[in-house]
Amino acid sequence: MKKHNFSAGPCILPQPVLQKAASAISNFNGLNLSLIEISHRSKDFVDVMENARTLALEHLGLQNKGYKALFLQGGASLEFLMVAYNLLEKKGAYLNTGTWADKSIKEAKLLGDIDIVASSKESNFNYIPKGYSIPSDADYFHCTSNNTIFGTQMQSFPDTDVTLVCDMSSDIFSRVMDFSKFDLIYAGAQKNMGPAGTTLVVVKEEVLGKVSRTIPSMLDYKVHISKDSMFNTPSVFPVYVSMLTLEWLKEIGGVSEIEKINNAKANLLYSEIDRNALFNGFVTNNEDRSKMNATFTLADDSLKDSFDAMWKSAGINGLNGHRSVGGYRASMYNALPLESVQVLVDVMKELGRKG
Ligand SMILES: *Cc1c(COP(=O)(O)O)cnc(C)c1O
Repeated sequence: MKKHNFSAGPCILPQPVLQKAASAISNFNGLNLSLIEISHRSKDFVDVMENARTLALEHLGLQNKGYKALFLQGGASLEFLMVAYNLLEKKGAYLNTGTWADKSIKEAKLLGDIDIVASSKESNFNYIPKGYSIPSDADYFHCTSNNTIFGTQMQSFPDTDVTLVCDMSSDIFSRVMDFSKFDLIYAGAQKNMGPAGTTLVVVKEEVLGKVSRTIPSMLDYKVHISKDSMFNTPSVFPVYVSMLTLEWLKEIGGVSEIEKINNAKANLLYSEIDRNALFNGFVTNNEDRSKMNATFTLADDSLKDSFDAMWKSAGINGLNGHRSVGGYRASMYNALPLESVQVLVDVMKELGRKG
C-alpha cells in the first residue's frame, strides 16, 4: 500500500498524475517515443509548455491581465537572485519570515541596498510580523507567503503601490486569493505542483525593463518571455508533470475546491494538536498557522521513540521536523488526501491513550 506521504518537499503528487507521467516516459502521445527523448521544439512538447503556462495563469485568475507565466530552471533559489537582477535599482524591501526569506535577502544584497522592514528571526520565525510599513521609494517589496520550515503562513498581504513580489513555493494553488495584487510570483515546482527541476514564474510584464544594469540572458525575464519560456532546453519532464497536476486540479474543481479540502485537513490536525496535551504547536499565533506545513513538538520527549514507531507502522512517511525547528512537521500539500491526516490524528490520539 502507498505510504501516507507528509514529506515537505519534494512531496506527494496525485496518483493519476504519476500514472500518466509514467506512461509518457515509455510512450508519449502515442508517438512510440518517450517524452524525454523528443525535441522540445516538436509540436507535441510545445503544446505541453503552452498548456502548462495557460493553466497556471488560469488557476491564478491572471489570464489577459498583462501577466506571463514561465517555467524556468535553477529552483526558487535562483529566483532570489533573478528578482533582484530584474527589479532592483536602488532599494529592495524584504519581510524576513524564515530561512528562505533570509536566503532571498542574502542574494539581493549582492546587487543593492536591502531594507528589512520586519523580521521574526529573533524568535526562530514562530510568527508572522505585522504592522510594518513599506518604504514608498523601494523598487519592490518581497515576501514569502508560506514558510515551509517553520509552519507559518501569511493570511493577508500589504496594500501598497510598491511592486509586490512573493515566493509562493509551498502554497501556490492551495487557496483562493486576489493574485492580481502581486506583480511577480514564483514557486519551485516540488512543493505543490510537480517534481523538482522547474520553477514557475508569473510576472506582470510592465514591471520589467526598468533597471539600468545589463542582465545576463539566462537571468533576464524579458528574454524568457520573448522565447515563450524556451530560451534554452526546458526541463521537459518536470514541466510535463506540472501540467498534469494543473489539469488534475482543474478536473477536481480548481483552487476553490482544493482550498476547502486543505482547510478540512488543517482543521483536523490543528484541533488534535490543541486538544491533545502530549503535543505543542510551534507557531505562537494561531492565525499565523500554515495550512500546508503544520509544525509541532512532543510535550514530553521521552515519548519520542514510541510516537515515531507508531506513525511509522501506520504507514506514515516524512514527518520529521526540519533541523532548525526540531519536533515534527506534517506537510499537507494539495495531493495529500484527508484520510492521510486522519491516520496521523488517530496515531496522536492513540499515543494519548497509551501515555
Ligand atoms: C523549498 C523552498 C525554496 C527553495 O526551493 P528550491 O527549488 O530548492 O530552490 C524557496 N522558498 C520556499 C518558500 C520553499 O519552500
